[in-house]
Amino acid sequence: MTTQEKTQTDSYNFKAEIKQVLHILVHSLYQDREIFLRELISNASDAITRMHFEMLTNRDVLDHDVELAMHIEIPEVAEGEPKQIIIKDSGIGMTKDELVQNLGTIAQSGAREFLSKVEEGAHFDATDLIGQFGVGFYSVFMVADEVRVVSRSYKKRAKAAAWVCDGSDSFRIEPAEKEDRGTEIYITLRKDAEEFASEWKLKQIIKKHSDFVRYPIYIGETQANQQKSLWRQRPSDVENDDYLNFYRQMTMEFEEPLLTAHFSTDVPVNVHALLFVPGKREPGILAARKDPGVMLYSHNVLIQEYCTDLLPPWLQFVDGVVDSEDLPLNVSRETVQNNRLMAQLGKTLKGRILRELKKLGQEEPEKYEAFWREFGRAFKEAIAIDPTAKEDVLPLYRYRSSKSDGKLVSLDEYVARMPETQEAIYFVLGDTAASVAHSPHLDPFKARDLEVLYWVDPLDALISPSLSEYQGKPLQNVDEADIELPDVTEAEAEAEAETAVPEADFNRFVGRCVTTLGERITEVRESKVLKDSPVRLVSPKDSHNKEMHRIQRLLNQDYEVPKKILEINRNHPLIADLSRLAAEQPDAPLLRLSIEQLYASALVQEGLHPNPADMLPRIQELMEIAAGAGK
Ligand code: ADP
Ligand code: MG
Repeated sequence: MTTQEKTQTDSYNFKAEIKQVLHILVHSLYQDREIFLRELISNASDAITRMHFEMLTNRDVLDHDVELAMHIEIPEVAEGEPKQIIIKDSGIGMTKDELVQNLGTIAQSGAREFLSKVEEGAHFDATDLIGQFGVGFYSVFMVADEVRVVSRSYKKRAKAAAWVCDGSDSFRIEPAEKEDRGTEIYITLRKDAEEFASEWKLKQIIKKHSDFVRYPIYIGETQANQQKSLWRQRPSDVENDDYLNFYRQMTMEFEEPLLTAHFSTDVPVNVHALLFVPGKREPGILAARKDPGVMLYSHNVLIQEYCTDLLPPWLQFVDGVVDSEDLPLNVSRETVQNNRLMAQLGKTLKGRILRELKKLGQEEPEKYEAFWREFGRAFKEAIAIDPTAKEDVLPLYRYRSSKSDGKLVSLDEYVARMPETQEAIYFVLGDTAASVAHSPHLDPFKARDLEVLYWVDPLDALISPSLSEYQGKPLQNVDEADIELPDVTEAEAEAEAETAVPEADFNRFVGRCVTTLGERITEVRESKVLKDSPVRLVSPKDSHNKEMHRIQRLLNQDYEVPKKILEINRNHPLIADLSRLAAEQPDAPLLRLSIEQLYASALVQEGLHPNPADMLPRIQELMEIAAGAGK
């Protein structure tokens, strides 16, 4: 090495985003500044984890046998000199180029997201965001006047280097002396942040934010974090707050988990598991867990950080720790995948999660509703991808229904309250609960006091062809033309007969429907079941894949309105009046307009109308006629 190389210092400018982040951090008088420590510890822990994985396959690393740990020191300084903190780790370290890259030139996704949230302004306050999510390494500038990062990579030939920055727009890179592997961060504290140069204070912060970091954090000689494996303790010994803390420290999510499941068993495999269903489907910005999957441990040693081989695809939102004595310590990815034990382990975990979810549904319906809102989709996709998942997921489904009063019901609850004479489970497809509630298909069911489930999620239509039965009861769409239902009482049937219009008038009206709607329908006929609605559209018997029309419309794909049977309710006052009109004034424009509108309304009702706005000019014409008549 030449002397010039040895003393050479290079200056770099930060990326624009980082400059902005630094500016916010340096100038925000932030009360929760302590989270800088959480961020630095989390980086050190990541660096150690990467080292740990490297050493599983590579022995040729610097300091192979050194303890994987962090050390925090508060050096003595002369009276009046600025105070300091030093944070050291035996992680993977950084080369000179990596220092430049990682701490200055890459546009960090975290920093960018942070800024875009801050710019959204209004309800997001920068200080709130820092508190909830941190902004990674740079949060150190909330407490530092100057930061010096000295690092040496695990690669044996790499030299140590230092990154130095005073919180301005640039940083410099210098050669440095460091014998051992890892990273040391020298923090020169701001005058207003000297309170952090206290062992007691640092211990408190670690307790609060980093207690479950999985490597020891030493302050002086003593270890500041518990680092105990919470999942290996007896559930009865763990407080709820410990779970929440553990979850927060593991994920850095602000939202509380919807479900926490902690259990140990020895049969059929040994396992200690601590699993969580997150509060939200989407991870928060800057969440620490970047991918789906659980952390897989063997004998308390991490062997895979994001293991997706244990649980089926529709349970990949479950996060947490799975630890088993039965797995070999040096498993490679392939052996993890093909391991018979893994299959058993997966089955055990799946069963347990399903059980806990079922329990949540029974004991805390409101929480379950939140769960279903976030993750119900995954359970429906499950059936689309893998029909054998039915048995697992169907009991967890929830729907609104004609009798649920806005609440969600399970299929089990539905079956339990079916009257003895009812043979099938009925459902109606449509766009929203509000629209299907008025569906004409429900008329005969309301008349008989039968419950109908509202299937108003696009996925319901998609998977309905693969759902033929539940607990031996057929699942039946109420739009099928000739559903057999128990008879209504005689009194009701008589009441209906009284309002009937003369046969000839009614037939004339039916004829007008045929000529007006033409090719758009397959048939017009009298309905035997309608009560409160004038008309409905039903599927011809041989129509297959009718649910696909609904989906194609939602997906905006090439969509043709399917041809259906128009059923007319002869006993409806509107139909009686229109039949009379058809007999007395066959040329009245009102007749044609009404038939068109009845058909259009029925399409909307079915969730099949390509463009409901098309109805507006016609509605106006109808209003003009009605207003004219009222003059
Ligand atoms: P993040 O941790 O979300 O990636 P940070 O701003 O916290 O973002 O850190 C930026 C990057 O700097 C890290 O991704 C890592 O590559 C590197 N880094 C930070 N601290 C260390 C450390 N102690 N050891 C090794 N690399 C580190
Ligand atoms: Mg980080």
